[in-house]
Amino acid sequence: MKSTNPIVTCEGLRERIGHVPQVNLGHFPTPLEDCTRLSDKLGGPRILIKREDCSGLAFGGNKVRQLTFTIGEAVHLGADTIVHGAASQSNHCRQAAAACARLGLKCYLRLSRDHKSIVQGNLLLDHLSGANVEVVDVPFGDELHEFKEALAEELKASGLKPYVVGGAHSTALAAVGFTWCMTEIYQQQRTMGVDADWIYVSSAGGTQAGLVLGSKALGMKIKPFGIAPLRWDNRIERIQQAGNAAAEILNLDLVMDDDDVRNTDAFVGKGYGMLTPECAEAIRIVAQTEGIFLDPVYSGKAMAGLIDHVRKERLTSDDTVVFLHTGGTPQLFVYNEELCA
Ligand SMILES: *Cc1c(COP(=O)(O)O)cnc(C)c1O
Repeated sequence: MKSTNPIVTCEGLRERIGHVPQVNLGHFPTPLEDCTRLSDKLGGPRILIKREDCSGLAFGGNKVRQLTFTIGEAVHLGADTIVHGAASQSNHCRQAAAACARLGLKCYLRLSRDHKSIVQGNLLLDHLSGANVEVVDVPFGDELHEFKEALAEELKASGLKPYVVGGAHSTALAAVGFTWCMTEIYQQQRTMGVDADWIYVSSAGGTQAGLVLGSKALGMKIKPFGIAPLRWDNRIERIQQAGNAAAEILNLDLVMDDDDVRNTDAFVGKGYGMLTPECAEAIRIVAQTEGIFLDPVYSGKAMAGLIDHVRKERLTSDDTVVFLHTGGTPQLFVYNEELCA
């Protein structure tokens, strides 16, 4: 694979990102680390890990960069309250609750009851952050989003100024966050003398969209490969739409082509949040070679995909791969029994 002509310089792209409303939430740039023991163990490509799990706020993770712009927009619009909701062990909600605590905003979380609705992991952290938390019998997805919108209306009627996180616009702002992440990878690769072929990531949305947009805008050789944590038939369009909307926000004359978005749902297993043996193996391998902990719902499944591609020789010692560690580590403690079985 070759690089293409950049349509903007790295500094130019940073400047455009700097014009989007934002709040300062995390520790950036996150490290890019060479993982030689992991590479040796797998006997395949050179592997570097981009440590979004070290993004600082509330145990880190990819939502810190996303919330930089969604909560950034909320503050810009004068909101005093954030309404959010997702699966009961949502990383996004945990990081949103912590961001609200830090910024002095009120936070309402409405979380879908599921097989992991126990006060451990992220749900424990939601409570400790002082968010108004309720576990509700509404499945996550469109229905929960409507539920959140209805709650926001009630809060408005009581005099608050709520901002709802979620939906297509939030995904576009998340993509702005990961376009920014790609500018970091661009500079870190330069400093390290690396020009990777692939970036593997757990995503079905804004994270991958931003990486695709950033690599296209900067004309980089690196190609994002997404591994979905769940089965959403429309995930490719979702990613394309988020990338296109982010391009518009950043004033970039770019559209996502069909072959820009490579994303598989082959590593989901039985479903979202259901541990697979390959994921548990991936978590152990990375912990035992690098002392880095992946999570059982997202990054562990993405690493299981990478390992599978090494074993099938889709990735060889001629390749260099960046693995983007999206975080999610508090969820390890909710899967204690399965992980030790
Ligand atoms: C949310 C999340 C993802 C996926 O992010 P997208 O918004 O779908 O790009 C991946 N990993 C972790 C740990 C997450 O919390």
